[in-house]
Amino acid sequence: MSGDYLDIHYARTRTPDAARPALDGHIKTQVCIIGAGLAGLNTALGLAERGVTDVVLLEAHRVGWGASGRNGGFVGASYAADTDKLIAKVGLDHTKRLIGLGQQAVSLIRERMTRYDIACGPNPDGHVAASWYDDPDAMKRWVEFERENFGENVDFIPREQLREEYAASDMYFDGAIDHSSFWFHPLNYCLGVARAAESLGVTIHEHSPVQSVLTEGPSCMVTTDHGIVEADKIVVTTGGYDQSLVAELAAAFQQVATYVIVTEPIEEALISTAIKTHCALHDDRFSLDYYRRLEDNRVLWGGRGTTLVTEPYNLRHLMQGDMTRVYPQLADVKVETAWSGIMSFPMHRMIQMGELRPNLWYGQGFGGQGMAQTTVAGEALAGAIAEGDDTIDLFAPFGLDWTGGPIGKLYGEAYRFYVRAYDQITTARDRRRAGRRL
Ligand SMILES: Cc1cc2nc3c(=O)[nH]c(=O)nc-3n(C[C@H](O)[C@H](O)[C@H](O)COP(=O)(O)OP(=O)(O)OC[C@H]3O[C@@H](n4cnc5c(N)ncnc54)[C@H](O)[C@@H]3O)c2cc1C
Repeated sequence: MSGDYLDIHYARTRTPDAARPALDGHIKTQVCIIGAGLAGLNTALGLAERGVTDVVLLEAHRVGWGASGRNGGFVGASYAADTDKLIAKVGLDHTKRLIGLGQQAVSLIRERMTRYDIACGPNPDGHVAASWYDDPDAMKRWVEFERENFGENVDFIPREQLREEYAASDMYFDGAIDHSSFWFHPLNYCLGVARAAESLGVTIHEHSPVQSVLTEGPSCMVTTDHGIVEADKIVVTTGGYDQSLVAELAAAFQQVATYVIVTEPIEEALISTAIKTHCALHDDRFSLDYYRRLEDNRVLWGGRGTTLVTEPYNLRHLMQGDMTRVYPQLADVKVETAWSGIMSFPMHRMIQMGELRPNLWYGQGFGGQGMAQTTVAGEALAGAIAEGDDTIDLFAPFGLDWTGGPIGKLYGEAYRFYVRAYDQITTARDRRRAGRRL
């Protein structure tokens, strides 16, 4: 049988949820979705909410076993692609519509948490971006731009306030807070969406890795170890974890891994000298740290990104080193769980979704910003399949571009190395000029 949840903080604290039976036998359905991460789950729920309830969702492991159940839990409207790159590619008006979809998705997630009674809290509001650069004017300009163009509820945080109220670290200068974003327990949210979809009639089979997909002939066929699903339509939402099911989809993204640790609970007297808020925090470097103080004063610390997807043997040590670089006062805190996850990253860093060939649909490429964006995709895919809605066309400019295979991977790693080195040099320069620790 394919795997259960990894022994990570989220699995240890998940809401009780019995395993669903694997697919066994030959069944027929209207829509078969492959992959029960949030892309697949949101598509299933979106279809069911639109009256298409004859839906079967097949998952190789468990609901939310992949990136969706092991991420930072930051829920925000923006995409993995930088906004200025989006504007350069599709123009300001188109970008406004895309960001508008992200904002609606954040609201829909909050609404579904209430409507379906999804316990995935606590859910403190606010994402704080803390800057490693001594450039308050750039931060102020960004805040103004976001407010004016996208109506974002963001504020500039001067450095003294950042240190006193949010993050007491010598690494940071000024910051900004996005009040509309929040965080949740991602695995519990996945489980809640699964239960909501099931309550409307969707069937989910876990431990059912799909071996092949056939779309020629009168109906489509999906094959697992012990079963076959005959479907009118198929939706592939296998994220960064599948590299073989549909060649065109696999060739259009790079697998990128990122890492997370969760510490033991930390005494209030100690943690309050470092992380002063329960808001989610991240910095503004290319290879950024993202972290938050959990309800019981553990720290969840994430970061690093690499196309080398095998988990490093010293993962705990690497991540603890990143944390204590920012907060040396946490050097003696013990790490309880550590893990990695794999994301699908297209070259343009935008969602890829559409109909690849008649009756074969897909949604992938969420990068490191998938929590609200899988809701954007779920809604667009469900709308297109159930009602012929054309929201999905807004994503047409972001196609299935080839990532260059192994050469592209090498290029990606070289680019990451270059940008990290550049970040290190410029941020060290800013701290030296400000007379801070290097
Ligand atoms: C460590 C980490 C931290 C992150 N932090 C954040 C964050 O704070 N905020 C944010 O917005 N985003 C974050 N992300 C990104 C976000 O988690 C992803 O973009 C999002 O979860 C992708 O969802 P998905 O459904 O496409 O993929 P996944 O969640 O990976 O789901 C794909 C599913 O498909 C299944 N599958 C694969 N192949 C098959 C097959 N052949 N048959 C059946 N099933 C199959 C897999 O088992 C898996 O469950 C993070 C990602 C990681 C890894």
